[in-house]
Amino acid sequence: MSVVMKFGGTSVADPDAIDRLIGIVRRQLHQRPERAPVVVVSALAGVTDKLIEVTRQAEEGDAARAGAALLALLDRHVTMAAAVAPASATALQASIRADFGELMGLVHALAVLREVSPRSLDAVLAAGEVVSSRMVAAALADHDIPAAWVDARSVLVTDAEHTGAVPDMDGNRRRLRDRARRHVDGGEVMVLGGFIGATRNGVTTTLGRGGSDYSAAIFGAVLDADEIQIWTDVDGMLTADPRIVPNARLAPQLSFAEASELAYFGAKVLHPSTILPAVTRNIPVRILNARRPERAGTVITAGGGAADGELTAIACKRNVTVIDITSSRMLMAHGFLRRLFEVFERFRTAVDVVTTSEVSVSVTIDDTRRLGDVVDNLRHFAEVACEPDMAIVSAVGENLRSDPALFVRAVTALDRIALRLVSQAAGRRNITFVLRDADVPEAMHRLHEAFFAPAAAIEPVSAHDS
Ligand code: ADP
Ligand code: ASP
Ligand code: MG
Repeated sequence: MSVVMKFGGTSVADPDAIDRLIGIVRRQLHQRPERAPVVVVSALAGVTDKLIEVTRQAEEGDAARAGAALLALLDRHVTMAAAVAPASATALQASIRADFGELMGLVHALAVLREVSPRSLDAVLAAGEVVSSRMVAAALADHDIPAAWVDARSVLVTDAEHTGAVPDMDGNRRRLRDRARRHVDGGEVMVLGGFIGATRNGVTTTLGRGGSDYSAAIFGAVLDADEIQIWTDVDGMLTADPRIVPNARLAPQLSFAEASELAYFGAKVLHPSTILPAVTRNIPVRILNARRPERAGTVITAGGGAADGELTAIACKRNVTVIDITSSRMLMAHGFLRRLFEVFERFRTAVDVVTTSEVSVSVTIDDTRRLGDVVDNLRHFAEVACEPDMAIVSAVGENLRSDPALFVRAVTALDRIALRLVSQAAGRRNITFVLRDADVPEAMHRLHEAFFAPAAAIEPVSAHDS
């Protein structure tokens, strides 16, 4: 197979971005004319956020504002369609209008009911990727690149866990390979929306925010792609979040495990589930900058990793809640941990960091929607205290496994910052600190300074300095 190329929201944001995308796809086709790439796209930048706002307005019964917001979105897409695919603009605009027509009907109904279930939310959000992918397919064709739009909902089948659906990999393999054979082998670029799928019964689902990366990895794995490319607005995985540490620099190579840890602990450039499908088929994942396509980016492989004695990168996950759970007996009774985690399981609340002492367990959670239920149920057998506005800062590197000095350096760098929890996982590829969210910038700067600052002076990288 060829490659799967995923373009994020900023990489399809406007006509200039689409021009760059066309150039990038054309270059790929020149390299491998007999194997067309599969292109996966996100909604245009900001569209998913806008659609979420629309569902909030619908929930408040404000049909007028929701309708006006949708009209503005329709206008943005229709205007852009004329710019990126002038030759086929009429047909493209007609299908965009039809998609929006359906969406407006749905949102109006939701506003009447004043209720947006996860299932309805998925149906609304999916529209962003449906129209962006139609537009990219038309733009490629308009520029003499053979391209076919494929509705991702007809090939990516998931369970019914709305807003965070899980794909059925075996079923998808069959379906997608059939479709791909028709297009890719004939030199035709297959264009699909990321982030979206459907249940076996055809009900629209989404894979969770940032899920287009995950879609690309799923498509790559089922098609046995040579490479999964994530085209975005930064040069690759950087040594820290550039919004917090502006002099973060490129991490040119990562192992699958490091990339997973970084994504899981907040490096937004990669959706946390992206790596798993790639690992199962051992497919390299490359993160590339669509504004600077000549750069090498970050390559993620089984081997990967930084030079000896170095950390690979740091990441942070903000606004988490710490829950301290203390056994009502003097010591933790046998079965205490089982009961405790059963509560989190029952209320489908994922736990990120866990530390234990003789009588108590502290955990962090990110999703507080069911916090009330979790706490009420824990109180049946334990004392519970919650602390919001906390954050997780994680230092990641394969070398942590072999070099204990890295741990000491990290802790020393955080001198006088109150560390609420510290943990080093069994794989020991990361050290995780839980601290006050307000201390995150300081902690990230200090860690970055301690591990990465010298080279930052040589090659600073920021998101938009081109
Ligand atoms: P896309 O729309 O292309 O999927 P995202 O906004 O989801 O892009 O992810 C890219 C952004 O991730 C970057 O602009 C950057 O601000 C942020 N980011 C956070 N941590 C990192 C990191 N360690 N390396 C690179 N980017 C990061
Ligand atoms: N458009 C979706 C989001 O903003 C999916 C993605 O961009 O990956 O979350
Ligand atoms: Mg993303």
